[in-house]
Amino acid sequence: MHIDLHTHTLASDGKLSAPELIQRAISRGVGMLSITDHDTVAAYQEIHHDHAGLTLIPGIEFSTAWRNTGVHVVGLNVDLQSTALEEGINRQQDARRQRAEHIADRLAQLGIPDALDGAQRIAGHGNNIGRPHFAEHLVHVGAVRSINQAFDKFLKTGVCDSTRFWATLPQVVSWIRGASGIAVLAHPLKYKFTRTQFSALVDDFMEAGGQGLEVISGKQNTQETKELARICVQRQLLASCGSDFHQPGQPWAEVGNIQSLPKGFQPVWEHF
Ligand code: AMP
Ligand code: MN
Ligand code: MN
Ligand code: MN
Repeated sequence: MHIDLHTHTLASDGKLSAPELIQRAISRGVGMLSITDHDTVAAYQEIHHDHAGLTLIPGIEFSTAWRNTGVHVVGLNVDLQSTALEEGINRQQDARRQRAEHIADRLAQLGIPDALDGAQRIAGHGNNIGRPHFAEHLVHVGAVRSINQAFDKFLKTGVCDSTRFWATLPQVVSWIRGASGIAVLAHPLKYKFTRTQFSALVDDFMEAGGQGLEVISGKQNTQETKELARICVQRQLLASCGSDFHQPGQPWAEVGNIQSLPKGFQPVWEHF
């Protein structure tokens, strides 16, 4: 049975609806799935019945910043009704709106007007605007040739994006714990921290009440997995794994496409 504890839907920057994602997961042999949209749990309102053979773990991916770098914390097995979670989501949705305005202002200064409208249209009814929606808009208007180039040229922290809007690391962890969930540090390799920096991040994360680490996130090489495995065991963190699926056609982040965890871990799912 495949386990995938990190995926996205249309409620954030994914391209499938929750029912479509669930169908895709089932057809790919996933037995346990968490939908972890950025700063929202709206996808769960679109799921109206149980799916035989699939255990759905309520989840979210909160945005925060650590030493001025954007860092993501996944909350797993959260109580969707909890007031702590609701408070967190409201706070982060305000942050997302303010940040979107900031990004649009910066883009306007660089000669790209009306980007907020464009991004909003792409984000759709949920209006949970993220940088990928801006990236798509930048491609549409011909400002860049690819999504990657949009991030490189415009959407990096310090160019048009800023991490100052997000709640702090202790704050996001406390919302997850307040919702009886387990806080997991997402995709550790994405931040490009040095070992020393990453170790300091783990210190702060654990001091805040964080308990887990994504030992497998999408595609990574054996050496990378070994290194994360070492940190996970050494720091006695719970091991999680997820594809970070956003859309079909990205084989490096396909739902259920998870390398098997090496031995010797405490899997996070044994604590649900
Ligand atoms: P946001 O939450 O609005 O800051 O957007 C972050 C999201 O942008 C990530 O979750 C990815 O889905 C996407 N992303 C980040 N960097 C890149 C990149 N270089 N190319 C494509 N997508 C990216
Ligand atoms: Mn994303
Ligand atoms: Mn992320
Ligand atoms: Mn993600």
